[in-house]
Amino acid sequence: MIFVFFFILGSIWGSFCNVCIFRLPEDKGVVIDRSFCPKCKKIIKWYDNIPLISFLFLKRKCRNCDYIINIQYFIVELLTAISFCLIYYIYGLSVTTLLFIVLSIFFVIIFFIDLKHFIIPNELTFPLMFIGFVKSFYPNLDTVIFPNFINSLIGGALGYIIIWTIIFLYKKIKNKEGMGLGDAKLLSAIGFWFGWVSVPLIIFFSSLIALAYVSPTLINRTKNLSTQIPFGPYLIIGTIIFIIFGNQIKLLLFNY
Ligand SMILES: [Zn+2]
Repeated sequence: MIFVFFFILGSIWGSFCNVCIFRLPEDKGVVIDRSFCPKCKKIIKWYDNIPLISFLFLKRKCRNCDYIINIQYFIVELLTAISFCLIYYIYGLSVTTLLFIVLSIFFVIIFFIDLKHFIIPNELTFPLMFIGFVKSFYPNLDTVIFPNFINSLIGGALGYIIIWTIIFLYKKIKNKEGMGLGDAKLLSAIGFWFGWVSVPLIIFFSSLIALAYVSPTLINRTKNLSTQIPFGPYLIIGTIIFIIFGNQIKLLLFNY
C-alpha cells in the first residue's frame, strides 16, 4: 500500500519536475500559472492534467486539437515515481529517504535541462549545495552514506576546483570551452552531499560512461572530439553508481 503512496507522490513531483524543466531555462515563473496547450492555447482541465494517467488516457493528444504531447512528460513522471519507490524500498521510512527524495527531484530536473539546453541553472545547484552542507548537522544522520560537515565542505570545494581546473587547462591548451561552470557547481553540490572521496570516483564513473556513449559516434565521425556534450547527465549517472557501489569501493581502496 505504501508503495502506491510513494508512486503517486513521485508522479505528482514528477509533474512538478516537468514544469521546472520546461520553464526554468526560459526564466518563466515556475509556480501557479495554469498549463495550456502550446498549439491551441486552450487551458488544460485538471482531469486532463493528472500525472501519468491523463497521458495514457488521452493517447498523447490534446483533447481539443491534434497536438501531440511530448513523451518527455510521461518519462519524467514515471522516472520520478519509480525513484521514490526504489528509495523507500532501500531506505525505508527515514531521514535518508527524505534526503534522497529531495536529491532525486533535483537530479531529474538538472538531467533533462542540461540534456536539452546545455545549461545547469544556479537556481538548482545553489540550493543543492546548501542542503548538502546543512544536512551534515543533523544529529542522527546516516554516516555510512553521508559525510560529516568538514568532509562535506572539503568535498564541495574539491568538486568545484577540479572541474574549474579542467575548464581552465582546456581553454589554455585548445582555446575552447569544453565544460561549463554549471558542471563545476553541480560536482561541488555532489561533493557537499557525499564528501571528498566521492568526487574523484564520480568523475571516473561519469567519464567512463560518457566515453562509452560518445565513442561510437566518434568512430562513425558524426561527431568530433570538440563537439560539446552536456556533462551534467553523466555526473548524475556517475553519482547514482557511486551511491550504489560507493561503500564497497571505499572499503576496497581505503579500508574504511
Ligand atoms: Zn490543443
